[in-house]
Amino acid sequence: MDRYDVAIAGGGIIGLTIAYELCTRGFRVAVLDGTDARMASSYGNAGYVSPSLGPLSMNAREAEETARYLASIGSTSAARYVEAKMSSEYTRIGMPIIRSMALEGRDWYARMSSILGFVYRHAGMLEVYLTRDELERRVEHIRHLASALNIPYRILTRDEIHALEPTVNDACEGALLYPDDAFVNPRSVMKALRDALTALDAVFLGNLESIEWDGATKATTTIAAVAEDDDNSKRRVRSFKIAGASVYADTYVVCTGAYRVEGLDLPVAPARGYMLELLPKDRESSLMPKHTILCGEHRVAISVHEGLRITALFELCSIGSAMVKENFTKLLEWSRKYIALGDVVVVDRWTGYRPCTPDGLPIIGRVSDGDDYGDSNLIVACGHCRLGITLAPATARFVASLVEGRDDVPDAIKPNRYGL
Ligand SMILES: Cc1cc2nc3c(=O)[nH]c(=O)nc-3n(C[C@H](O)[C@H](O)[C@H](O)COP(=O)(O)OP(=O)(O)OC[C@H]3O[C@@H](n4cnc5c(N)ncnc54)[C@H](O)[C@@H]3O)c2cc1C
Repeated sequence: MDRYDVAIAGGGIIGLTIAYELCTRGFRVAVLDGTDARMASSYGNAGYVSPSLGPLSMNAREAEETARYLASIGSTSAARYVEAKMSSEYTRIGMPIIRSMALEGRDWYARMSSILGFVYRHAGMLEVYLTRDELERRVEHIRHLASALNIPYRILTRDEIHALEPTVNDACEGALLYPDDAFVNPRSVMKALRDALTALDAVFLGNLESIEWDGATKATTTIAAVAEDDDNSKRRVRSFKIAGASVYADTYVVCTGAYRVEGLDLPVAPARGYMLELLPKDRESSLMPKHTILCGEHRVAISVHEGLRITALFELCSIGSAMVKENFTKLLEWSRKYIALGDVVVVDRWTGYRPCTPDGLPIIGRVSDGDDYGDSNLIVACGHCRLGITLAPATARFVASLVEGRDDVPDAIKPNRYGL
């Protein structure tokens, strides 16, 4: 089997942008992923490219719930986090990092949309409220953070909303407009990246089945545990095993989103989200929103792709557990309170898993070789939760610089904060 410069497990938005960044820098890359595109969170998300973070990013409560959930299913690193009550660190250390990664992401999508040929629009995001009280509560909630992070927003009256976005219902009493925000069509971005990678001679292979470690005797163990158990030799990845074959590379990257990889105790929990895609029955006369719209009270995100895409809910759960079918009906009911949907046909129903971490920050960097932190030939890039589309380009730049031998990754998002 061929040897690659970099083997990447996971072909969601994170894996594909990393692969693209590496290929354009001259590396020979293999991407390992299965054949079902719908498994990726990158398939059914809302496509918000959101430097305003506030409306979208994981809040402190969700981060705490994630930490508790992971601890309850036996993640030792997450249990340490729960004990140390680290989640408040998220706002202090994490938000400025995420904000600058998000701005970088938006600039990348704006630049690359015409080069790669995907749908990108920068029209701002409207967070619409049914009642004035809720809008005021929200403003109170985001005011300090927005000022600290220099996130612009405007408060709109009912008349101003309707002048700007006629699809919003008269019943809505106010909104916040975040002018920084843009959106992409996730389906077109994923296709454009795959096409570009094929043209750049990247190789697509099947799923990663297991990691083969140099010198390790056990297949299922954490890197840290191997280092304690075994002799003192350095622990490095020897190959990625796929069905019936080994894939060899100089550097290995794991970015499988919310999906666990045997042998890595990454503290990433799946939080299920629901997506409905709708087409108006009468496409001629129906109005499509110009902005992405977040339905304030219900936290439902609406965006225009081939049709209207509606996404919502945050359910911490195990992969493959039963979803709640009635939630799709709720998505539709909630959306109708905010915008005039008219007669619609449902063309797609989907659920997918946001990859969530206990402190709400992604995990990006080299993992320990059992001796020194950050010294192995294995890089991880996961845990982007609600912002994976937004943060993918900056993540790809960080990973590419690691592969080239530099380390630009901010300490707050490195894997060693979890002892990895
Ligand atoms: C409803 C919803 C709405 C969202 N809206 C937005 C939004 O508007 N803006 C935004 O920025 N983010 C949004 N997100 C979050 C965003 O979708 C995720 O953060 C992002 O897609 C994560 O990308 P990823 O590549 O890490 O994971 P994924 O996209 O899940 O990709 C992981 C890939 O790894 C593959 N895989 C799994 N196991 C293996 C294995 N063993 N070997 C090889 N491959 C494997 C899977 O098949 C999959 O293709 C939303 C998420 C949801 C669920």
